[in-house]
Amino acid sequence: MPSVFVQGRPVDSYPRHAPEARHGKVRRITEAGEEVLHKPCRDVTEFGPDLAALIDDMFLTMYIADGAGLAANQVGVDLRLFVYDCPDDDGVRHVGHVVNPVLEPLDASHRRLLDDSEGCLSVPGAVMNVPRPDRAVVRGYDRDGEPLVIEGTGYFARCLAHETDHVNGQVYLDRLSGRDRKEALRQMADRRDEVLARRAATIEALSA
Ligand SMILES: [Zn+2]
Repeated sequence: MPSVFVQGRPVDSYPRHAPEARHGKVRRITEAGEEVLHKPCRDVTEFGPDLAALIDDMFLTMYIADGAGLAANQVGVDLRLFVYDCPDDDGVRHVGHVVNPVLEPLDASHRRLLDDSEGCLSVPGAVMNVPRPDRAVVRGYDRDGEPLVIEGTGYFARCLAHETDHVNGQVYLDRLSGRDRKEALRQMADRRDEVLARRAATIEALSA
């Protein structure tokens, strides 16, 4: 089994960071409470250099913040798009981007819910258990407008569901009970400054 899939296809070798990140610039990551994260994003209708540049920025921003996925509204852009660099539970790495992603509904008899820990770059410092299906299929397009189907299991399925939620205007806090949501916000209040300081230090080191 190949150990890296890029845009859903196996590759023989791949660098530590997606090449897109080399051309990107770091953008500010929006936080829970900012409007752009809490309303559905618009469909991407223009496939061109601006979209490609946004994807570059999103990859770099995701790596700087040590994330496994990042949606466009997490950098303040109201478009249906996410990038990912995420392992599954079998140690396979998945890297890519999806434009206008739609999560395919799965037959309840063919899926299992996994209750595993989840965090979000827009809820800095919090980690909570969230039940998610152990399998996910996302349909969408690549930056050139070519149709795409990305399938994931385990932690990568969680990532695909989490990122598609973002473009639909949902954050994972919306999937928590009232009590867990309060706990997540408490964790964020405790650790946010530390997480943001670490990101700032990484940006500093990169530009030095
Ligand atoms: Zn998130």
